Amino acid sequence: MALGEFDLIARYFHTAQGDDVALGIGDDAAIINVPSDQQLLVTTDTLNIGIHFPENTCAADIAYKTVAVNVSDLAAMGARPTWATLNLSLPAVDETWLSEFALSLRQQLEAFGVKLIGGDTTRGALSLTLTVMGICAPGRALRRDGAQLHDLIVLTGTVGDARLGLDLALNRRTINDFAHRDYLLQRLNRPCARLSHSAIIKSYAHAAIDVSDGVAQDLNHIINRSQCGAIIDLEKLPLSSALRFHLDEPTAWHYALCGGDDYELLLTLSASDWPVVEQQLFQHGLNATVIGRIESDGGLRCHHRGKPVTIAQQGFQHF
Ligand code: ADP
Ligand code: MG
Repeated sequence: MALGEFDLIARYFHTAQGDDVALGIGDDAAIINVPSDQQLLVTTDTLNIGIHFPENTCAADIAYKTVAVNVSDLAAMGARPTWATLNLSLPAVDETWLSEFALSLRQQLEAFGVKLIGGDTTRGALSLTLTVMGICAPGRALRRDGAQLHDLIVLTGTVGDARLGLDLALNRRTINDFAHRDYLLQRLNRPCARLSHSAIIKSYAHAAIDVSDGVAQDLNHIINRSQCGAIIDLEKLPLSSALRFHLDEPTAWHYALCGGDDYELLLTLSASDWPVVEQQLFQHGLNATVIGRIESDGGLRCHHRGKPVTIAQQGFQHF
């Protein structure tokens, strides 16, 4: 017999032990002991089948990405993720799918030190909404509105890969090189939340955002909120060797600036702080690249080797 709603919850979703949770999954609401000297940050993201992941995405990848995109938001705020709730809509009870999903979810939450404390389970088209809470010292969260004139613009990792991975997942493009194919699909399905980068940059960054809708659109959020402008030097955009190998330069720039789903961190900081930050990142085996600078003239401009270049800047929007 198929599992009922309550057996399903009891079998697949548990709250990890810890003093910070006074009451976890199983009652009408969870009770958490929020440290009295910290601010609580809350973020939520929904992943819908056919919109946020192709229909053929496996359960483990869906769970992985659900955690990554939410933790990425808290990394962008300079917060430490702590607790999560999961709203899960399922077309039917498929125990193979559920056990694969629950295992991957547990592993990812554990990897980031997050405890699942509740949620809701309903019938419907496959959809997941994870809400992740986090904490940070009062007044120390990184916001979009803090960019300052002459700041450097810094980007972690590489961008554009997830967009090329999506081409592969949707069979819009074929890449036979197994290593490249595998790398690009991983970048799409298993984005890295840059929490380790965040732990270092949070003491220096003036503004930050995670790149979910393309560098151009997300940088526009920072400059609009900070009431300034920016220049990106296209030749400095960090592009993976897989992306460079398979795309011509203008397409690579377009994927980097307007493709989505990379979940890298985009931040601004003082030029005088950059050498220290770069050194600390390097010591932890992490990297980031300066891609441009903040200016007083509003709007986002792209340069290539010092010359202005016109580039479409529209990133992903649902409506
Ligand atoms: P209620 O009817 O009071 O809303 P539910 O029967 O929906 O309670 O949920 C029972 C318990 O299981 C609650 O503690 C809820 O937070 C938890 N829960 C339900 N679905 C999930 C889920 N997908 N993941 C984690 N916890 C869940
Ligand atoms: Mg309920």
